[in-house]
Formats: sequence, C-alpha cells, structure tokens
Amino acid sequence: MSFEGELQKIKNEIIENLPPEITVKKIEFEGPEIAVYSENSDVEATENSTVLKDLAKTMRKRVVFRWNVEKRKDPSETESYIRNLVGEDAEITVIEFDHTRGEVIIESGKPGLVIGKKGVNLKEIRTNTFWQPKTIRTPPLASRTIQLIRGMLTKERQTQKDILLSIGKRIHRPTIFKDLNIRLTALGGFREVGRSCILMQTRDSNILLDVGLNVGNPIDRFPFFDIPEFSIRDLDAVIISHAHLDHCGLVPFLYKYGYRGPVYCTLPTRNLSTMLQLDFIQICEKEGNPPPYSKRDVKQTVLHTIPLSWGKVTDIAPDIKLTLHNSGHILGSSMVHLHFGKGGYNFVYTGDFKFQKTRLLEKANVKFPRVESLLIESTYGGPQDRIPSRQESERELRQILNTTLKRGGKVLIPVLAVGRAQELIIVLEEYVSKGLIDKVPIFLDGLISEATAIHTANPDFLSSDLKEKILHQGKNPFLSDYFSTVSSQDERLDIVQGGPCIILATSGMLIGGPSVQYLRALAEDSNNSLIFVSYQVQKTLGSRLQKGFREFQYVDAKGRTQLVKVNLKIFTLEGFSGHSSRSQISQFLRRIQPRPKLVIVNHGEESKCVSLSTMIHKKLRKSTKSPKNLETILLKN
Ligand SMILES: [Zn+2]
Repeated sequence: MSFEGELQKIKNEIIENLPPEITVKKIEFEGPEIAVYSENSDVEATENSTVLKDLAKTMRKRVVFRWNVEKRKDPSETESYIRNLVGEDAEITVIEFDHTRGEVIIESGKPGLVIGKKGVNLKEIRTNTFWQPKTIRTPPLASRTIQLIRGMLTKERQTQKDILLSIGKRIHRPTIFKDLNIRLTALGGFREVGRSCILMQTRDSNILLDVGLNVGNPIDRFPFFDIPEFSIRDLDAVIISHAHLDHCGLVPFLYKYGYRGPVYCTLPTRNLSTMLQLDFIQICEKEGNPPPYSKRDVKQTVLHTIPLSWGKVTDIAPDIKLTLHNSGHILGSSMVHLHFGKGGYNFVYTGDFKFQKTRLLEKANVKFPRVESLLIESTYGGPQDRIPSRQESERELRQILNTTLKRGGKVLIPVLAVGRAQELIIVLEEYVSKGLIDKVPIFLDGLISEATAIHTANPDFLSSDLKEKILHQGKNPFLSDYFSTVSSQDERLDIVQGGPCIILATSGMLIGGPSVQYLRALAEDSNNSLIFVSYQVQKTLGSRLQKGFREFQYVDAKGRTQLVKVNLKIFTLEGFSGHSSRSQISQFLRRIQPRPKLVIVNHGEESKCVSLSTMIHKKLRKSTKSPKNLETILLKN
C-alpha cells in the first residue's frame, strides 16, 4: 500500500472510533504521534472520558487532539487571563506559546496551583482560550543549557513542526518485507569501554543505539561508521541511552553528514547531552584540535530530538516500537526495549545500569512485557570486580576526608560532571550537616554546577526520597551553601594556596579540564589526597595513577611541558560507582522478567566481556555472546 493509502486507512479508523459529536478537520502525523485537529469546542470533555485511551489501545498508536487555530485567543490576552485565574501565589515565571502545537507552556514555582484542584484551572484555560496548557516547574537553579535549548526551540517552532511531519511520514510508511531478519552489528563499545554504538537492522528499518565517542583514546575515537552495512541515508532513528559522551558524544556528527531523522531519549538526557556536546566542542578548540562537529550540528540535534518519558510505547519505524525504562545510572539514563514486528521479537539494551538504589536514583528496572534477547554492559563484569558496599565506601570516604583535613591537606575528587558529582554533593551535604566531617569549603569546578541545575529542573527522574525531600520537605541538598562554584583562574589559585578544603572537579579521568590543574598544584604535597570514585578508562592519566605511576607530564597554559612528581595519597572508592558490580549484574539477570534466551555482553574491557559471558553461560545456563566490534549477530530470521 502507498503512504497515502496507509494514511487514509489510519484516518478512517480514527474517525470511526471517535464519538460522533467530535468533528475532525484534519489528521497529521507529528513524529510518532497522530494529531487530530478538531473544530469541536468541547473536545476537552472527551479527554476526561476514555476516548484517547481507547483509541491508543485499539490502534496501538499515540493520538493527541489539537484545537482549531482560528479560535485561539490572542497570546497576550491569554497570558493575562491565566495570570488572573491562577493568582500570584502560583509564582508564574514564564508563559510561552507554541503556535504550531497550540500549546501554552506555563512555568511556575508551584505548578499544583496552576493546575488547580482536579485540574479545574487547566480546564478553564482550555475552554476559554483554546490553548492547550502545559505546566512545568521553575527550576530553583537556572540552567544556561535549558535556556539555550528553549531559545532554539522557540525560534524554530515551524522548522520543528516540519521535521515532525517528515519523521511522521517515514515512521508510518508501509513495510515492504514479510520477514524481519533482525540483526545486531557492533559498531563500537564491544570488548572495550567508549564509543558505544550498535546498529539494529530489520529488512525494512535501521536504528542506531547510542552514538558515543571514545574520550580517553584519540586513536580509536569513532565507532565504525564506514562499514557497508551502515548508511546514514537509510537510518530511521537514533536512540540515546544516557548523556555520557561515550554514549551520546557523536550524535551531532551524524547531522553534519546529512542525517535528518529523529533522536529519542529522555528530557534530562537531551539537556545533559547538549551541555556536554557544546562543552566538548570548546575543549577541542582550547586544545587546538578541530572539533568533529559544530554548534550548528548540535542545534540540529536538539531540533530533531523527541523526548520520551519512561514506560511510553512509541512507534519509531514501521516495524519497531520503542519503550524506555529507568537504568539507575545517571539522571534520565534508560534501558531500551525494542519490539519488532507485530507480536514478533523483543530486545532489551541495558546501556550503563546500576542494579542498586543510590541517593540520587532508583535502581534499574527489571520488568519488561517480553524479552527474547538482552544486551548487557560489563564495566565491572570481571571476576575480581568486587565492588565494596556503599556503606563500606562511605565509611572509608569519611575517614580519608577527616584524616586529610586534620593534617591540613586538601582533597581532590575528579568527577564526571554528570552522575557521581551529584551523588557526592548529596553525601557531602549530609556529612557536613550531621557534623560527620569538618565544615571546610567545598568547591565545585567545571560543568558540575550547570549539570546540577539540570538535575533540579527534572525532579521527576530522581529517587523517590530525594524527590520527596526536594518537593515536599523543602530540603534541597543541591541548594546548600556549603558548596561554592569556581569559575575563574584567580579563584583556582586562591583555592590551592588556601587552607584545607574539598574540591570536586572535571574531568573525572584526569584527561584535561580543571581536575588536572588542581592535580598539578596539589600533587607534590603528601598531606593532600586524591580520591577516584568512578571508572577510569584505560590509558587515561587517572587509570595510570591507579596502576601506581607516580609522575606525569603536565602541559601548562603556555604549552610548556613539566614533569610533576606525585606524592599525594591516592585512593579508589568503587562503592560509589554508577555501574553494577559483577554480583549486581548476576542479581539483575536472576530477577529480570521475563527471562531472555540470549544474553549479549558489551561495554567492558576484553577480558571482562569474555569472563562475564562465560559466567552467565555456566551459572545461569543461558546462550551468551561477547562479540567484537564489526561483528554481526542474527537475532531472528
Ligand atoms: Zn555512563
């Protein structure tokens, strides 16, 4: 059937299923959603009924209603109407209009008051202005990245609408082949950590899971895009599991080379990825290396990104449905569930995952509607990778902090801007407020504060207790005045010349950025301490220091090289890791429902991938594979 034929079929089906009092003006495919434009002024009544849900169920598609454009009230009139209706107590900060979707976005300090009891205010707004109200909470910390993204989207609303229409057409095209022939090809991040990239293909569709960049290794930096199986022109969708650069760092590179399809991820993943991609361009420029893409390509990425919430089933290709689930690794990080064909085959990609609750996040999801095969990470999958318990590592952390600070030393903790940094902020805030460590200045350097601001803008993705603390008890550890953000060289100089303190700085693996500058200044004094709390990719300075090297070459701002002796004390606290330990991986595999028949292992050093895969085969009696980059596995004929 032609695309037009398919479209007509879906339109007829929708009209047949709607109550007769709703008159339909037009129906459009907006990305994965079907937008029904109604002339009926009473449509909101249907939303209270089960019409939308029933439609979604019978058609297995997402349907949204849009109002007639002509009837919409003038934006400035609408704005004053809303402000009058909800009152000043709602603390409205911004009211924005999305003309293409007919939405009015109301950002306020108290969204509950904007919504009103049982949604009464939203209903009033809808019936009196014909705008569809959407509420968001004003984040307590302003994020430059979120402002920038909002600016891009506001300016390019029409472009974004056109993008969604063309994506919608592609998703709802008729399939050509009967057999699925599902294949997985390893483009990067197999038997290694870094440049994660997986090509999933059926005879009709092509999907990329993650498009990462190997940050620590300039030689094998890119995934294998140049193999004959991969063609940017045939790509239907890109799915990003989470915002670390080894998973999202090269998405804009695809747009540089002509990709114009969608990127699916959670909202925090979009925000954090944009922040890190823009920062990556800056770092390349600072180091005198040409960046692999420009700000323009990052903007294209933002315009083509379709944020999804966890648990929502979404059509992403004519024969593939996607659902994201919490993976417990960093804010917004997701496991990817793909459903192929009609009732055909189910595949789950864990991405980086933590099968344990942390202060920041809930533990990874284990329940799926169906799973035939699973792709699982193995960062700590080696037999000797016993991660100490969180309590053990916390006890050790307090001890290191107390002894170092008492002898007048400073503590440097290199962290990735996203993830461990926020976990440590919560932990340190608790220690200081309970008097478990001395109250010394705690400095945050690099992108940590900006990443933290993005965390405060997305409380729904945080652990239930932290969310409860922030939203209902007014105790937000991220706003504590124990922490100061460092933003200039002069401040850094004052810190290294000053008294005992704790410094959290990026990069987490000491491959550049302020953490290396601090290390240069603190390395020679044996009173100081350096604490690693996250995985160190091989060949990075972090990994070399962990292995016992006690010297390093430092290149200063003028390009001069110095040899620096390392006398400070070095500690590694694995208990803070955002990855699952070998035993947590086993627990996850014992608990996952339903049980997959095939387990494929990736994202780990060679020996760990192989060892984990053997263990799963022997102990859990499953078929396993640990492919190398460039290998293809046929999942289903
Ligand atoms: Zn990660």
